[in-house]
This record gives sequence, C-alpha cells and structure tokens, in this order.
Amino acid sequence: MIPVRGFEGKTVAVFGLARTGLAAARALLAGGAEVAVWDERAQGLAAAQAEGFQIVDLSVAEWSQFDALMLSPGVPLTHPEPHWTVQMARQAGVEIIGDIELFARAVNLAPAHKRPHIVAITGTNGKSTTTALIGHVCAQAGRDTRVGGNIGVGVLDLPDMHGGAVYVLELSSYQLDLTSSLKPDVSVLLNISPDHLDRHGGMEGYVAAKRRILLNQGPGDTSVIGVDDPWGQRICTEAKSANRRTIMPVSASKAIGRGVYALQGQLYDATGDRAVQVADLNRARSLPGRHNWQNAAAAYAAVRGLGVSPADIADGLLSFPGLAHRMETVGHIRGVRFVNDSKATNSNAARQALSSYGRVYWIAGGRAKDGGIESLSDLFPRVARAYLIGEAAGDFAQTLEGKVPNIACTHLGAAVAQAFADAQASGEGGIVLLSPACASFDQFADFEARGQAFREAVCELAGAVAAGEAET
Ligand code: ADP
Repeated sequence: MIPVRGFEGKTVAVFGLARTGLAAARALLAGGAEVAVWDERAQGLAAAQAEGFQIVDLSVAEWSQFDALMLSPGVPLTHPEPHWTVQMARQAGVEIIGDIELFARAVNLAPAHKRPHIVAITGTNGKSTTTALIGHVCAQAGRDTRVGGNIGVGVLDLPDMHGGAVYVLELSSYQLDLTSSLKPDVSVLLNISPDHLDRHGGMEGYVAAKRRILLNQGPGDTSVIGVDDPWGQRICTEAKSANRRTIMPVSASKAIGRGVYALQGQLYDATGDRAVQVADLNRARSLPGRHNWQNAAAAYAAVRGLGVSPADIADGLLSFPGLAHRMETVGHIRGVRFVNDSKATNSNAARQALSSYGRVYWIAGGRAKDGGIESLSDLFPRVARAYLIGEAAGDFAQTLEGKVPNIACTHLGAAVAQAFADAQASGEGGIVLLSPACASFDQFADFEARGQAFREAVCELAGAVAAGEAET
C-alpha cells in the first residue's frame, strides 16, 4: 500500500466503497488523515464497517469539516449530471479528487531519493495491452516495475515507492478528470475515438479529459502521442509548439518524420537522424494486428523515454505473453484455432480482430452499443458465418441479412460447437473468433466471465472430440 501524505490532521470524505474507495480510505488513514466514508449501497457500507472506518452519511453531513472529497471513478463528475456529493462539495468549496490524484500527491511530497519513475497510459482502445506490455518490457529489462491503476491492482494498493521503482499506470478518462497534479516522466496517449460521450458531455469533454495526461509534464519528460487519428494529430501538433518536453509521435501505419512507427509490422525508431529498423513485430507471439503495432510502437517509445536500450526493448516486445481476453488464442482443435477477444465490447475494438484474420467464424452479440455492427460492413466478406448470441442477436441478424450467413445461438457454448462444426465441414480449418462488439452484462458478470465461458466451452469441445477420436 502507498500511504498518502499531505492530509495529516485533515478530514477527507470518501464516496463509493468498492475497491478504489476502500483502498483510498486505507491509504489516507495510513498517511495520517481522518476519513469519513459513505456509499449508497449496503454492500459497500458493510465492507467499510468491517474494516472499522468511520461511516458518515454525507447527504446530511456538515461539509465545511471536509478538506477534500475522494470520489470513485464510476461516480459522475459532470455528466449526465454531477452526482449529489459533487454538488455538495462544490457548494462547500471542497476540492474533488480521485485515487490517482492521491498517488500523485504522495509522489510529489516524497523526498527526491524516494521519487519513483511514472509511466502513465491512456487512450480509447489498447490501454490495458500497452500498459501490460510496457510493464513486461521494463521488468524484462531489470527494472523494479509495478503495474496498476485501471488495470489489475488499484494504484494505492501497489507496493510503496522507492527511487528505483517504475510505476506503469493505466488511466481511464474518468480517473483523469479527477487528477490534477500527476506529473508522469512518460505519458502515453495512444489513440482517440468517440467513447463514453455520455459521461463527458460530448467529444470535446472526452478529448479534454484524455489530454489531461500531458498537463504537468515539462522539460525532461516524454510525451508519446499516437498520430493515427485526427485528435491525436492535433494534440501532438499543439504539444510540439509548447515545446517544453520531448514529444514522441507514434504511428502503426505510416512513416512519420521523427518518432516511432510500424510499417507492415516492422518497427522503426526514427527519433535520431535516420530511421532504424528495431524489431519485426510479425515475430511477436502476442501482438497480432495493426492495432497491436500501435501499442508496440507506443511501448517502445515510452520505454526508450526511460532509457532502456533498443535491443532490450525489442526482446521484451517479442516475449510479451499477451493479456487474457484480447485476441488470445485459447486452443486449437483439428486445425481450427479458437480466439478469445471477449474484451472487444464495441465495434471499433472488434474491427481490430476481424481485420487481423483472413476468414473467420465469428461469434458476436451481447448487449449492443450505439450503432451496432453497421460500421464493420467492409469486413463482412471475411466472415464465413456469424453466430449470434444475447440481446443483440436479432438486430445483428438484420444488419447481416443478405451479406453474411448467420445463425442465432441460444448460448455461447452452442455457438462454439456450431462454429467448430462449420469450420470442420469447410475442410479448410479456420478461426473461431469470439469478438462480440457488445457489452457482456445481459448474460455474464463482465467481459472476463464471458471470455472464461468461451475458454471452458473450447475445453469441453476438445474433450468431446478427443473422446470421439478414442472411440473410433
Ligand atoms: P482498453 O484497456 O483500452 O479497453 P485493451 O488493451 O483491453 O484496451 O483492448 C481492448 C480491445 O481493443 C481488444 O479487443 C483489442 O482487440 C482492441 N485494441 C487493442 N489495442 C488497440 C488499439 N491500439 N487500437 C484499437 N483497438 C485496440
């Protein structure tokens, strides 16, 4: 745990008592603050009570006693409308902060010899992959590396800091909205496309939240910015003209004057006088597809910013084991490969998987996002047949009508079995891909449970096929 200093003798209200809120309450207490915790859910209150925190009903509390409101990232700050705690805090002139801000304050107050290196990563898609990739490369290069934030372990639950440590932190736009004094040594803004617009009041608010990652960087710091989309391009140009830090543009698809880029999977470091080929990403076992080249280019630039050598970074990129549920191969049965991309909860993410393979037996559906799968129609010719599950099955069938053969399946296991049977019958093998382009909540607790169910269905199928083989 990282004790949060700076609030000694002060009282901080903590709203939202799931993982982030409880970790923040513990870290504040350890740093010498008083905390007053509250939640609207009985489960959260019970968890806080079990740990002996002071429970205070914030809806009737005297807010002038609080020095700050620590808000969980799931609680709306501005849109669709500010949460009541936000309104009460503002009325009382109480500052509103999140767990990343608490971490930032702890770091900023640490003596120079204890100050760790911070790499902060955001973007619309690929944050977790890039965070894990940077963590892997740093650890392989012998750095004492801690990975957390919006991935895995919450930032305040990571081990306490020391001068040699590297904190590699994934940051969501919600977290960034609650952060004002983080000063990363290396920031990574991977890509931007419309997402979570309801929570940010539109594209402008969303982009503004994302660019906060650059906020406090100055001389000696590195900003890695993906320039494959117009928003990234603009932010990069503006950051260059501010010119107080090292700007490192990255691209997955085009040669850029100065920066790091991939062309057909060959990674080039063009940060010096000329472009040098530094890695063949086609040889990386867990970085398939153009989108992963973007992640790899960003990771390369970020870790270079920490001073790791190009050769060590290339080794790390090639040995990255990958993350579960992101284009993860979970099995091969009789020439058919099964790929779990359960994390593809929107069409933009599913696009990456679909465009990475030639011909797929595609399992899609769940709780649909706005726009459905209409935007993927250019990729429909790659789909041999679609297996539709969940609430979206009917709508998706309509979109696919006359373009892609499709079938509604009662559940994920049935879809896996049917897709395998079809791939087998084609005589060419192929890829059975779960890339739902939907949220999972209609049938599963979360995308991880959905991916796990896919993995189990594949295991079961393998068992059944093996048993059948033994019989014949
Ligand atoms: P995030 O943490 O931002 O949600 P993940 O690394 O978990 O991102 O990947 C989520 C999904 O997005 C995966 O299904 C993957 O196929 C896709 N994806 C990964 N990296 C990128 C990228 N750079 N651009 C677009 N899509 C990506």
